[in-house]
Amino acid sequence: MAHTEKREFQTEVKQLLHLMVHSLYSNKEIFLRELISNASDAADKLSFLALQDNDLFEGDGELRIWIEPDHEAGTLTIRDNGIGMSRDDVVANLGTIARSGTAEFLKQLSGDQKKDSRLIGQFGVGFYSAFIVANRVEVFTRKAGAAASEGVYWASEGDGEFELGTLELPQRGTRIVLHLRDDEKEFLDSWRLKSLVRKYSDHVAIPVMMLGEPAPAEEGEEPKQPELEQINAATALWTRSKSDISDEEYQDFYKHLSHDFSDALSWSHNRVEGKLDYTSLLYLPSKAPFDLYQREAPRGLKLYVQRVFIMDDAEQFLPLYLRFMKGVIDTNDLSLNVSREILQNDRTVASLKAALTKRSLGILEKLSADEEKYAVFWKEFGAVLKEGPAEDFANREAVAKLLRFATTHTGDEAQTVSLADYVARMKEGQTAIYYVVADSHRNAAGSPHLEVFRKKGIEVLLLSDRIDEWLMSHLSEFDGKPLQDVARGALDLGELEDEAEKKAHEETDKQYTALTEEIAKILAADVESVRTSHRLTDSPACLVVAEHDIGAQMRRILEAAGQ
Ligand code: ADP
Ligand code: MG
Repeated sequence: MAHTEKREFQTEVKQLLHLMVHSLYSNKEIFLRELISNASDAADKLSFLALQDNDLFEGDGELRIWIEPDHEAGTLTIRDNGIGMSRDDVVANLGTIARSGTAEFLKQLSGDQKKDSRLIGQFGVGFYSAFIVANRVEVFTRKAGAAASEGVYWASEGDGEFELGTLELPQRGTRIVLHLRDDEKEFLDSWRLKSLVRKYSDHVAIPVMMLGEPAPAEEGEEPKQPELEQINAATALWTRSKSDISDEEYQDFYKHLSHDFSDALSWSHNRVEGKLDYTSLLYLPSKAPFDLYQREAPRGLKLYVQRVFIMDDAEQFLPLYLRFMKGVIDTNDLSLNVSREILQNDRTVASLKAALTKRSLGILEKLSADEEKYAVFWKEFGAVLKEGPAEDFANREAVAKLLRFATTHTGDEAQTVSLADYVARMKEGQTAIYYVVADSHRNAAGSPHLEVFRKKGIEVLLLSDRIDEWLMSHLSEFDGKPLQDVARGALDLGELEDEAEKKAHEETDKQYTALTEEIAKILAADVESVRTSHRLTDSPACLVVAEHDIGAQMRRILEAAGQ
């Protein structure tokens, strides 16, 4: 090698590396899944670019991944003939962390190893997980289409710095050499390696190759050379027929796709032919990623066109309020040279989005029959689904059916009551669905506005999520019944009041006109009007918001934002 220089890792990379080595011990085998996944991504990227420029294959279009244990050297090598990296790529990808959420991720770490390792799983540990088992990692790589002299060498011991150099590499692609720690030599064992590849990387779409055991020599013959064997299935799972795929295979594929450790809660696999022509495999995860609420966080589906990988995180196929879904869409309706820009204004994409939205809502609807599982979903993603009615007018009713609330009926903070449950319990003569919004469940449950409802035994939804007021401003009715904020305007209980009560209220109003006028004068600067109320039984007075004013919770949010 001509010359190497030393460079420092970014602070955050140093922290991450430290963490890898010290916290991920219980899950160390995932390094192999991550490195194979990178090699497979590299193959996908190359075949995608080669669609435009076939020369990039350099006469070698059979994309493969090789796993090469070397017992003498104590090294494990993962090699691919994918896209490879230029010197700039190496510095950008392996010297810093490409993901924008890294700093945020590090902030979220709790120090509890079990919890943190799950976080790392969601985060996708990637390349750096090599340092869980290796005390030195070397990378030899050359970009497809570049000259042999433009090979790049990268090496690090996982401390604060890495070496960077240039060397001659006739072969395109990337070779990663792990110098295994003394107590990690189990990863040289071919049987162990094979079983790991089958467990984690069976669904990688290109062949993963490894030398088999040498066949025993016949008497008097030269010992036979071991042969290369393909050790993964290497078929794109979603192209297979549903009836041939076991639940376990679906779950394995989910983990491969999402880098998640936990099982998916549910999935839906569909092949559609006709006006639209596509196959989709959508998964509902069981755990929210840490960056669910970050604007820039990657989301979306893996997009294939006619079985060719096009891009990760294609976000145009699902609305934002379903951003927790994971999966694959493989379509014949788009051209192979689609770009993100084209996806943005494409009519076919809009139709696919509508179809996949329905499918996702279908998954949730089906799941809702299983209360226990649905509660898991709701706890993780309920607040995101609440964005639905505002974002997706067409599916407002379908989303509304999937919502769950805390109410005065259960007396519990858990959000378990559906609007349909509520409607089924409505009192005779009750025409509206009542709700109260506050900044905490306690304040909602203790709201003085509830007094009259309690007296009459009418259920009220108790809303206290940040998003709730926004949700209610886009959900004006359910099943033909208006949703009514009990803290807004004059409360009209309509049929629920009997004649005698109405009469008594009118009497009270007359009796106290002088008093309310006097109070209105004194508070003139602060309130719009003062009136007697029949909604209170224990409290002497309460504040209400006029029918069309912004609500109290929204007001607090706007105030906090300096409006
Ligand atoms: P991620 O795969 O989520 O982007 P990683 O840490 O696994 O994160 O990898 C970082 C980046 O390094 C990849 O995005 C890719 O650009 C590059 N990279 C890693 N391994 C390879 C490889 N075998 N071939 C080409 N590029 C690679
Ligand atoms: Mg990766």
